Amino acid sequence: MTDQNRRQFLSTAGAAVVAIPAASLIGSRLAFASDLPMVDTASAQAVALQYVEMSAKADQMCENCALYQAKEGTEAGMCPLFAGAQVGGKAWCSAWAPKG
Ligand code: SF4
Repeated sequence: MTDQNRRQFLSTAGAAVVAIPAASLIGSRLAFASDLPMVDTASAQAVALQYVEMSAKADQMCENCALYQAKEGTEAGMCPLFAGAQVGGKAWCSAWAPKG
């Protein structure tokens, strides 16, 4: 094995070692997310961000927001702006941003 091949192997192997646990953490985080309650629309954070369970904007909802994290095919997911609660896929808040 040449030095260049060894470096490439070590680089690839290192990336795989980092990527596998990261993917596991994301999967387990989403699994736990389904156990969380839905956002309380009366909470201070929800009121401040004008969160609603059903978006009035046809082209803006959590499921097409850049901050939404959910397993495909689920009706609710996580948003970093609402720690400890799930947001609905059809919900909306004033922090909505298009997916890149
Ligand atoms: S930022 Fe607002 S619109 Fe986007 S996922 Fe979070 S709650 Fe939904």
